[in-house]
Amino acid sequence: MPASSSSSSPADPHLPQPHVCIVGGGFGGLYCALALQRYQRRSAPTFRITLVEPRERFLFTPLLYEVLTDELKPWEIAPSYHELLRPYAIHHCQDWVEQIDVHHQHVTLRRGEPLSYDYLVVATGSRLKPPVTEGSHHALPFNTLEDTWALEKRLAELEPTATEANPIHIVVTGAGPSGVELACKLADRLGRRGHITVLDRRAVILRSHSLAIQRVASKAMAKRGIEVFTDVALEAVKADQVIYHHADRAHHCPADIVVWTVGTIPQPWLGVEIPKQSPLAQCLVKPTLQLLDYENVFVLGDIAEMPGPKKSRAPMTAQAAYQAAPIVAHNLWASVHRRPLRPFHYHHLGNMLTLGKGEAVVHGFGICLTGRVGAIARRWGYWLRLPTFHHRWQVFKHWLGWKGRRKT
Ligand SMILES: Cc1cc2nc3c(=O)[nH]c(=O)nc-3n(C[C@H](O)[C@H](O)[C@H](O)COP(=O)(O)OP(=O)(O)OC[C@H]3O[C@@H](n4cnc5c(N)ncnc54)[C@H](O)[C@@H]3O)c2cc1C
Repeated sequence: MPASSSSSSPADPHLPQPHVCIVGGGFGGLYCALALQRYQRRSAPTFRITLVEPRERFLFTPLLYEVLTDELKPWEIAPSYHELLRPYAIHHCQDWVEQIDVHHQHVTLRRGEPLSYDYLVVATGSRLKPPVTEGSHHALPFNTLEDTWALEKRLAELEPTATEANPIHIVVTGAGPSGVELACKLADRLGRRGHITVLDRRAVILRSHSLAIQRVASKAMAKRGIEVFTDVALEAVKADQVIYHHADRAHHCPADIVVWTVGTIPQPWLGVEIPKQSPLAQCLVKPTLQLLDYENVFVLGDIAEMPGPKKSRAPMTAQAAYQAAPIVAHNLWASVHRRPLRPFHYHHLGNMLTLGKGEAVVHGFGICLTGRVGAIARRWGYWLRLPTFHHRWQVFKHWLGWKGRRKT
């Protein structure tokens, strides 16, 4: 049943503003809210926008590693919603959505009163794949700012007694982008006081990346003395070691810290009635990013199977969610004003990976920048994508060493 307030023509200035409820304030949800408020100023009547997000701070995940090496401060990559949204008419409802009822057009919150909506945007992202390996509770996840604090705390406990002869043994499970980037940063932080091993069940590292990136990353890890084992079958994680099989032999790898970076899966749909889903459990959406059968519900980011080039699907990345956000904002505006909706087309702009302190690889459009140049290109590439002009300005001033306020 395509329930929709658009049937009552909300473009009529005498009717109340349509309420857009956005669930999830990450790359999909926050950037959609910010893009939507730009229509807000130009068109009448305006929307009422509520962003339901339980966290206090937005997290710019691609730069999370830099906090561990103190290259960036937490406020730079995790500005508070309060600060980001202050200039805009976007209400941040700091709560968890527990249920979405697409029939009756309301969402149930964990603490607050239920919210009814005219239009709903769902961008709840993904979570780490639940570990199936025995003893994986000994491993630390690396997905959120809180995970970084837990890792930071463990490092701080071990660092004072670590020496070259008695290094901290760290095992990183997963040689995808997170595992590789984290391993390089940890290697640079600890130097000779650390011994890092990366394990992956597949035959190659960075499977979804270009050969050029794989080569550069392998070199960067070799230069730092990081041991990488592929084609590995993890058997168990213990308090002080990881047991795995490699080349037909069982290995016992000492581990003071195990970090789990084995990929993500979409968050489950928050409703009794589960929409049609792909084999990867992403919601099936139209090219306009509307949920099948519900024209007033838009789904984007990791939780949606968004169209990619040549009938493929867009990857589960910030880049894809960031590109989808303004399309959803436009389509919300177009739905209200009865204009044609735009289809989403994902454009792959390349990949950027940090490979240690002040070192990165940027590969796109046939150009591959590495080392210091890569690091500068990556840093400014991400700076451009930080949310809100005000936040970019604060970070810009800080990088240039201009004095002013700054905090945690
Ligand atoms: C460490 C790390 C590094 C990464 N590096 C890169 C990179 O270099 N390049 C890249 O393109 N991608 C990168 N990614 C992937 C990228 O972060 C995600 O693809 C992207 O964030 C997806 O955007 P999203 O809006 O779908 O979800 P998210 O950005 O994860 O946002 C989802 C939001 O929904 C909220 N939420 C969840 N459940 C509820 C609920 N029940 N009620 C209300 N709110 C809820 C969450 O709190 C969260 O804020 C990285 C991810 C990680 C973890």
